Amino acid sequence: MTAAGEHVRSWYAATANPSRERPPLAGEHEADICVIGGGFTGVSAALTLAERGRSVILLEANRIGWGASGRNGGQVLAGWSGEGEMAKQLGEDGVRFLRRTKYRGHDIIEERIAKYEIACDYARGSITVAANAKQQRALAAEYEAEKALGADHFELLDDTSLRAHVATDAYCGGLIDRRGAHCHPLNLCLGEAQAAEKLGVRIFERTEVSSIDGDAAPVVRTAAGSVRAKFAILAGNAYHKLAQSTLRGAMLPAQTFMIATERLGPERARDALPDNLGVCDANWVLDYFRRTSDDRLLFGGRCTYSNREIIDIEGSLLPRLKRILPQLGDVKVDYAWGGAIGIPLNRVPLIGKLRDNLYYAQGYSGHGVNCSHIAGEILADAIEAKTADIDLFEAVRHFRIPAATLVGNPLLAMGMTWFRMRDVIGI
Ligand SMILES: Cc1cc2nc3c(=O)[nH]c(=O)nc-3n(C[C@H](O)[C@H](O)[C@H](O)COP(=O)(O)OP(=O)(O)OC[C@H]3O[C@@H](n4cnc5c(N)ncnc54)[C@H](O)[C@@H]3O)c2cc1C
Repeated sequence: MTAAGEHVRSWYAATANPSRERPPLAGEHEADICVIGGGFTGVSAALTLAERGRSVILLEANRIGWGASGRNGGQVLAGWSGEGEMAKQLGEDGVRFLRRTKYRGHDIIEERIAKYEIACDYARGSITVAANAKQQRALAAEYEAEKALGADHFELLDDTSLRAHVATDAYCGGLIDRRGAHCHPLNLCLGEAQAAEKLGVRIFERTEVSSIDGDAAPVVRTAAGSVRAKFAILAGNAYHKLAQSTLRGAMLPAQTFMIATERLGPERARDALPDNLGVCDANWVLDYFRRTSDDRLLFGGRCTYSNREIIDIEGSLLPRLKRILPQLGDVKVDYAWGGAIGIPLNRVPLIGKLRDNLYYAQGYSGHGVNCSHIAGEILADAIEAKTADIDLFEAVRHFRIPAATLVGNPLLAMGMTWFRMRDVIGI
């Protein structure tokens, strides 16, 4: 059992670096910016703003990294989900933005790890594997397109050459991206929060924001206090219930899951993934796996779209892992956990302004490690009146499901079942 407000029982929580517990907010406070939510979006924005000399207060309902940021696969994936839709809606500007920011989150993370000495097992190298011939053709096309643009960090593999990197017969091939990466996300988030505090950011944990009042200057209220700020950033992603009249129905929360095997020992772990790549398949609802620093395999996948659906996480994920790597035999699972992600209906992240001086960023569709760091920078820029990037997101037309809490998740479930069927039949 996990105590209320504590990190869920995961391999990440079990291997978290020491981090002090911050007190809840009490009384009235002031800051240039009040950030709501202590995941990557909020912490990253707070750190960027502090680096630029702003005074920041960050309020987190539970603990830093308690949400998806401290539970995820740790795969630092290139680019954005929803790229096709963004390019379609925004034309040349959108395409230039996507190209420019493809690895922007990686750069921010790598700079911070070096600058603030954050120990989070960051390792470069990822691979997308193809579950069918159509996906392999798409990877080959991506490889050619990247080559034509001058990128030399990709390597295209067929099913035979793949085995030197992922010891499996389950895929038709893959595309290695040497700029992709993986890391211990909870330790990254905790390290960024500590860096932010050293620059003066005041962090309060176990502090749930109940409302954001005020017009030109937001007043952020909690049960025992308030923060009066020039700007506020809403970074609660799939976990918050604020500003629902504007945001409800455009992004629907889904649950997704992970397991960590028992320790395999260096040899078995290396045999499975010889050069320590982070692996993702190319399906809509993807499977992903990687090694850990203590020689386990972390495996993630599956999605549920209704809060009422309870799944047997180990029973659901372990057979998938064994199908891909049958040589693991009767490997045991030490940890199983889940978390919430936000999936916008058109898959384009929701980044924008709710009203003057109140910004939000959410809904990265499972691509958040990279994208939340870019979003943090976009929000910090917007606060400094550099609005070119946020304007791009605000121009995107988002679909909304009316009465979303009543019908939203069943509709999303139907839509995602269709995409899962496409994965299975390979169309
Ligand atoms: C199991 C799983 C696997 C994933 N795997 C990957 C992966 O491999 N690669 C990848 O790129 N992405 C992955 N993702 C997605 C990624 O983790 C998220 O996109 C990203 O962490 C979102 O960060 P965030 O800060 O926006 O939200 P979160 O990390 O969810 O943080 C939101 C925070 O806001 C707080 N909060 C909410 N409401 C309030 C309030 N009213 N007051 C104060 N605080 C509030 C919450 O307590 C929470 O801590 C995965 C997600 C899950 C769940």
